Amino acid sequence: MTALPGTLYIVSAPSGAGKTSLVKALLDALPDIRVSVSHTTRAMRPGEADGVNYHFVDCATFTNLLEHGDFLEHAEVFGNYYGTSQAALERTLAEGHDLILEIDWQGAQQVRRKLPHAQSIFILPPSQAALRQRLDNRGQDSAEIIERRMREAVSEMSHYVEYDYLIINDDFASALEDLKSIFRTRQLRLDRQQRRHDDLLVDLLG
Ligand code: 5GP
Repeated sequence: MTALPGTLYIVSAPSGAGKTSLVKALLDALPDIRVSVSHTTRAMRPGEADGVNYHFVDCATFTNLLEHGDFLEHAEVFGNYYGTSQAALERTLAEGHDLILEIDWQGAQQVRRKLPHAQSIFILPPSQAALRQRLDNRGQDSAEIIERRMREAVSEMSHYVEYDYLIINDDFASALEDLKSIFRTRQLRLDRQQRRHDDLLVDLLG
């Protein structure tokens, strides 16, 4: 893949660390950022919509897409399959938007190998107790699934060292400021500013 105008970001976190809420608040705060909608074989949760939270597909469809090479990365997480569409990703970056992949560490490793310029951010909860409480508060999953997710969370968190940036989501507002500053800094890089302020630069120097 040739260099595309937008920046690709990977955001990972254990379930319950507040990743989705932080990303949503980031989109409300800064322009030109998109979130990739993954394909998954997991069942839709209450409040989710097909094509918005995920493209919900059956195993046969997922396998078909995989065999056709449609996924930039894919992984099995909590017994379900998840994958990122390569074509949608290229389209969004080519349009000049930043793109966020909310994916797990396995997917992050695959993306880094293929697209070494991707910027990766890991979000940690302030404590194990806070993580458990957040998982309980979601009220969407059974106790058995919550216990399993606690174990998976510890395993997911052990991969934080592979990321470029680390955010601790203790206070939501300050974690959001941290996240925003990562994106703002890259949006201010010379190549991005030259594209954004093309007319001004011609006017000033022409
Ligand atoms: P959930 O089912 O709770 O939305 O997500 C479970 C886990 O799957 C989260 O860690 C999430 O980041 C990860 N995930 C979601 N979409 C993808 C994807 O496209 N690829 C990979 N590798 N992981 C994903």
